[in-house]
Amino acid sequence: MKRPLLAALSQGLRSRLSATPLGRVLTRVLRRPIPIFYDPAYRLPLPAFEGRMGGEPRRADFVAWYSQEDPLLSHCVLRAPERVSYDDLLRVHTPSYLDSLLQPETLGHIFATDPSEIPVDELLRSVRLGCGATVEATQWVLKRGGSAINLHGGFHHAARAHGSGLCAFNDLAVAIAVARSQGFAGQVVILDLDAHPPDGTADCLAADPLCFVGSLSGSDFGALGNVDETRLPEGCPDEPYLAALDALLKRIPKPQLALVIAGGDVLSGDRLGKLGLTLLGARKRDRIIAQALAGVPTVWLPGGGYSPDAWKALAGTVLAVAADSEQPIPNDYDPLRSRFVSIASAISPSRLGGSSELTEDDLADILGAPVERRRLLGFYTPEGLEYGLSRYGVLPFLRRLGFDKFRIQLQRSSAGGDTMHLYGTGAKGKEALLIDCSVEQQQQGNDPILYLHWLSLRNPLAQFSNRRPQLPGQSAPGLGVAREMVEVLGQVARRLGLSGVAYRPAYFHTAYPARHRFRFIDAQRQGRFLALIRDLSHLSLLEASTALAEGRILLGGNPYQWEADEMVYWLVPRTDDERQIEQTLAHCHFTVAAAPTSHHSTTTGKEGTPR
Ligand SMILES: [Zn+2]
Repeated sequence: MKRPLLAALSQGLRSRLSATPLGRVLTRVLRRPIPIFYDPAYRLPLPAFEGRMGGEPRRADFVAWYSQEDPLLSHCVLRAPERVSYDDLLRVHTPSYLDSLLQPETLGHIFATDPSEIPVDELLRSVRLGCGATVEATQWVLKRGGSAINLHGGFHHAARAHGSGLCAFNDLAVAIAVARSQGFAGQVVILDLDAHPPDGTADCLAADPLCFVGSLSGSDFGALGNVDETRLPEGCPDEPYLAALDALLKRIPKPQLALVIAGGDVLSGDRLGKLGLTLLGARKRDRIIAQALAGVPTVWLPGGGYSPDAWKALAGTVLAVAADSEQPIPNDYDPLRSRFVSIASAISPSRLGGSSELTEDDLADILGAPVERRRLLGFYTPEGLEYGLSRYGVLPFLRRLGFDKFRIQLQRSSAGGDTMHLYGTGAKGKEALLIDCSVEQQQQGNDPILYLHWLSLRNPLAQFSNRRPQLPGQSAPGLGVAREMVEVLGQVARRLGLSGVAYRPAYFHTAYPARHRFRFIDAQRQGRFLALIRDLSHLSLLEASTALAEGRILLGGNPYQWEADEMVYWLVPRTDDERQIEQTLAHCHFTVAAAPTSHHSTTTGKEGTPR
């Protein structure tokens, strides 16, 4: 197959071309459209996942949104996949294994999550959509040539008769089995560049002599007979990694179909992968492969990724595959914020309840009626809040956790200001409080701000367990929407013309989800917070919070107590005392003392083996 015209241009020329309106049209016309398979339900309905595993549970969402914003990717088309059929799963997996997946215990084992926290149908929907997308992407490239990308797949630890390491179905093996059943008899090459070895894929494909599996990893799972394995040393940086890739590419047979797992857990600082690549190194990896496989029908899959930058590695895969580009994702680009700003601008104020007319509150005050507040901050009606939370994706996610029939109640807060209670009905038809939020408009110096007295996110269907220990201040496990709520509060403040949002996190785990937006007012305090995040980055949030609560975090050798202090999310430009923050960051070093017992450990051995 000939190289497309645009690919022959230099990268700089292509970037410049795509920056002009005419160039964008030309790019779209001349480039082969590249399907990106994505569904909002790719995000696993497991709220504790981020706290325990690290990484970004919204990875697929972020990359899908990013692909719609970057002009270099204007020829990429988001495609919603179908769920893989039971019949297709049976081509690879045993019936008894598939039956066992209806038990929350089996899924809890695979996803290292307490069974009480597993919404079985919804979790199976996520993984069936991901698996179905790999099947569809394979069909697509076999029919049309070129490349396709699936933002949720590469479940290479799933074997024929059991799942493990966050992998329930082996989407690669299922996609190949479906293609084989339709008469495709060509050579398949799987390049597994996740940081962990493809034990499940080796098992599933053992009987297919025309499947070559090549793996570069940083872990030893024992010998995998039919896999061309290269185990790289711990912390392996870009150069030797890319040299090993080069050597692997020289050994592969000539493929008629290729599946690439462009693992995001190869990055330095990944909590579960042991390699040490930079984002640029991962991008070079993907470009080298894309160039080596030019003309071969190729499906790209993300595999694992357990560092905050893992989504950027996947966005990088899309940029490498679709635009042969090394353009970095801008440091200040935040996909969640960008998304929420664009949703906010599309919501009419009248839909949320606000108007400059006399409000019911005003009337109540004037008429001396009982002070039952019907508007939050004198603006939002319960219906408006419900609409907003739905548009921002909060209610749809809560629905996936098993709640429905949402109801919002507003009242005056005991702390001053207003309280919003969001109730939802869970399984067995019982209504429960899910979100409890108290806000008030206050002054911070000369600035009017939105003060958050408290925000409690509660999942009454889930239980605390060894895997999900109760943290100080928690009355129920969380809902996994803290970051969304932070952005929602930012949009509320923006809409009301306030300068920012402030609160006082009583614990590390209540400050952590806000770290992207909020800063401590005191520069030294902010420096210590950043140092704490830096020095505890090898722990999951649950491990770090537990260690803090147990007094095992030391600063200069002495037990460190969390300092509750005001944090602000400024919507208006501020000059922070960066030098003071940097100095404190450089001087503060936190260490972790060993746990007295291991009952809180979230290290789960083989069961938690990551993908
Ligand atoms: Zn992995």
